[in-house]
Amino acid sequence: MGFRRPAFTKLLFESPSVVNGEEEELKREDFDFERRLGDGAFGQVWRVRHKKTSHLYALKQVPKDKVTKMLPQFRREVYIMYELNHPHIIKLYNHFEDEKNFYLIMELAEGGNLFHKLYREKQFLERVAAQYFREVGLAVEYLHSHVPAIIHRDIKPENILLDKDGRLKLTDFGWSNYYSKDNAMPRFTTCGTLEYLPPEMVEEKGHDTSADIWCLGILLYEMLNGSTPFKATVRDQMLRNIANGKPKFPLTFPAYAKDLISKMLEKEPARRLTIQQVINHKWMLDHPPMRATITQELQPKPLPDLNVENPNIPKGYVVISKQESKNSTETSEQPEEAKSPTKKASQNEPLEAIEEMKSPQPNSYRQSIQQMKHTLSQKEEETKLARHKLQEQAHALQKYEENIKLLDERINEKRKELALLTVSEKEMLLKISDVNLELEKLQSSCDGHATAENNAIKSKELLEKANEVKLSQKNLENLREEVKMKSMEINEKEKNLNSLQIYLRKLLDEAQNEGNEKKSKINELEINSDVLRTRLETQNKTAKEFGNDEKVTANEIMGYIQTRYSELGNPLTSLEEKIIKSEETIIETEQLLSNSKLDFEERRAQVVQGARKKKDEIAKNAKKMAEDAREEYKNKVEMDKQVLKEELNEARKLEIKFFVEDVEIDHAKEKINSLKKDLEERRKKIAALQANRKESQARLNTKKKEVEDTEMEYGTLKAQMFHNPQIYDEL
Ligand code: ADP
Ligand code: MG
Repeated sequence: MGFRRPAFTKLLFESPSVVNGEEEELKREDFDFERRLGDGAFGQVWRVRHKKTSHLYALKQVPKDKVTKMLPQFRREVYIMYELNHPHIIKLYNHFEDEKNFYLIMELAEGGNLFHKLYREKQFLERVAAQYFREVGLAVEYLHSHVPAIIHRDIKPENILLDKDGRLKLTDFGWSNYYSKDNAMPRFTTCGTLEYLPPEMVEEKGHDTSADIWCLGILLYEMLNGSTPFKATVRDQMLRNIANGKPKFPLTFPAYAKDLISKMLEKEPARRLTIQQVINHKWMLDHPPMRATITQELQPKPLPDLNVENPNIPKGYVVISKQESKNSTETSEQPEEAKSPTKKASQNEPLEAIEEMKSPQPNSYRQSIQQMKHTLSQKEEETKLARHKLQEQAHALQKYEENIKLLDERINEKRKELALLTVSEKEMLLKISDVNLELEKLQSSCDGHATAENNAIKSKELLEKANEVKLSQKNLENLREEVKMKSMEINEKEKNLNSLQIYLRKLLDEAQNEGNEKKSKINELEINSDVLRTRLETQNKTAKEFGNDEKVTANEIMGYIQTRYSELGNPLTSLEEKIIKSEETIIETEQLLSNSKLDFEERRAQVVQGARKKKDEIAKNAKKMAEDAREEYKNKVEMDKQVLKEELNEARKLEIKFFVEDVEIDHAKEKINSLKKDLEERRKKIAALQANRKESQARLNTKKKEVEDTEMEYGTLKAQMFHNPQIYDEL
């Protein structure tokens, strides 16, 4: 066949083997699709057999519409996958596309994925976990050694596969979860796999190679513990745990492993260990390789600068169609190159891979190889059988699935029926509750509760009364307020009076002091006058003795003294008067004060008494009103009760009557039934009799006929006899 132009525009670049002219472009029809290996967010993975060479591959079918939005990235990542060449990374051999899908032809990992293995075994022994962890670690170290670093971003057991020897191979990296600003977490949001999501991705911050270290931390934890550290049943809780929670380790958790994991599960990406630090951690050194494992010394490897429109030919492709099938049995399913990945890796320049065997003796090595070959062929035989069985089981499984589908359908039907039933049940319940409500109403009115109308009236009355009480209370309060104000006023007055009293006392004291002073001056003057008088008397005596001149002088002096005396006497009397007066005012004011006090007390008592009286009155009124209302209400209820009781009695009587009538009707019905039966029997009898009569009639008829016949015979005989009389003689 010649070259055919495809009926669609190609979105990916041409496969390298086609560009090199080494083979024709592959097509879907070149492969037998044998078994579905897995489903992912981006498509299905199938185990396929290349028809021409019989080689087995894993074919990943990616619907175009799922990657159209990030096509340039997809192209770039496919290109880079061709470049990746590592014993612990699934190899991309070739690719092609048709109208609907891209197809990636990859190295087949026959041992399934680590998720299933972990699911089956729950958790791994420390040394097994260390071996697996080392192999994944080597792959990650290889990815990170590129410039710029390739970040896997989705390391988890589902994306770690096992080859037929049980070695781990990382897959599903790069393109499947390509990080872009418009499409930050395509994989996680669609798949819902959150347990491995690093905190910086939860918070949608930028991320780098340390995101892979986080995932490795979760992986190691899960391999040793059987579950992931931040797991929660609710999605949001899990995200919170990832962002803020500390991983909890069981008490028995190995100490060094715990140390390593804690350092990988640092929330702050910059503080996490690097992949080299992880590989060289004490726990890793404590668990050396259990089987031949590569060691690698990596140089920074620049990623090819890809112009996606016009790419160079990727290096790592494999020509599929031209490959000679050396042995088309199941044993050589893999292309030679794919079968010895370590060998290929050591040939590839930037990756220096050295096989490091643990077995030390060369002789025993050879022997053991032979032995291994032997057991290998045995195992292959077993595998064949097992496969056959597996196919049978798959068939059975399919049948089961069909049955399950049928059952599902039936269940769905039952569910629908159930739904209908629940609806009708609900309706019934509603009806019942309605009836109950009515019953309750009836019962409550029987129990002596007033009808709603009564209630409304009563509550209105009560409300009014409550309002009245409230009003009186308010009045009382106002009165109380007034009393308070008044007593405050009085207090103020009392205070003023007190200060007035103090002032008066002060004045009195002052006046008394002044009086005392004046009195002492008067005393002095009196003494002086006494002295002068005695002197005068003596002078008088002398004057008497000596002459009148002296008498005149003495009289003059006396006059002077008297005027002085009168002068002094006036202020004294006015002061005394003043004192007396102020004393009088004090007494008067005191009198006034006590009077007003008395007055106030009296008034207060009056007010309080009045208020009390009013309050008592109001309370009494309210009480009486309430009692009246209660009494009235009670009476009414009692009456209602009576009426209802009567009605009930009436109803009961009616019920009994109906019951009796019912019984009578039943009796009558029974009677009618028995009469009917009787009638029926009689009818039957009549029918039987009729039948009998018919029969007898028939019999009669035959008899009649017989008689007629005999008569006829007799007639003919008679005629014969008439013609031949000898017959008569013969007879
Ligand atoms: P997705 O990107 O959709 O998750 P994956 O590449 O992870 O797709 O593949 C989905 C599943 O298919 C894997 O978990 C695995 O079980 C199976 N699978 C994928 N690649 C291979 C392979 N090369 N060999 C065997 N099984 C594979
Ligand atoms: Mg996957």
